[in-house]
Amino acid sequence: MTDCIFCKIVNGEIPSKKVFEDEFVTAFLDISQVTPGHTLLVPKKHVKDLFSYDEELAEKTFRVLPELARAVKESTSANGLNIVMNNGTVADQSVFHSHIHLIPRYTEEDDFHMTWTNNADNYTEKEMDDMQQAILSNLEG
Ligand code: 5GP
Ligand code: ZN
Repeated sequence: MTDCIFCKIVNGEIPSKKVFEDEFVTAFLDISQVTPGHTLLVPKKHVKDLFSYDEELAEKTFRVLPELARAVKESTSANGLNIVMNNGTVADQSVFHSHIHLIPRYTEEDDFHMTWTNNADNYTEKEMDDMQQAILSNLEG
């Protein structure tokens, strides 16, 4: 895609701090460095988001994650690491060439924050059953 910033990084048209590359994916340091070592794993094929992956692209992309996560963790002496994938504007995606964030974690007070609300009390057993059935019926195969 001609005006896609990550396609340009994949093709070497604009510089990046690459840390891994194979036939199908590239990984490079995220320019924002939310925490030190913040890295992006990107499929070379231009796909917008997770909803556009097929099984083959998923296998080729996600298989790299454990080794890359270990290398980032070892290189930074982080104590943990969050994997984040924003899919869609409402989910904070800003670059519409799919990518996976690897965000090393140092302390609970470092610069990466997520808020989780436990809403369990708002759902009845029936509503949970209906949700389960809706998802089951939308799964292919
Ligand atoms: P998103 O919000 O779409 O999940 O994340 C996009 C990420 O891409 C952001 O964390 C942003 O810092 C990073 N980013 C945007 N432009 C560039 C760039 O030109 N180079 C690098 N290395 N990262 C970029
Ligand atoms: Zn692209």
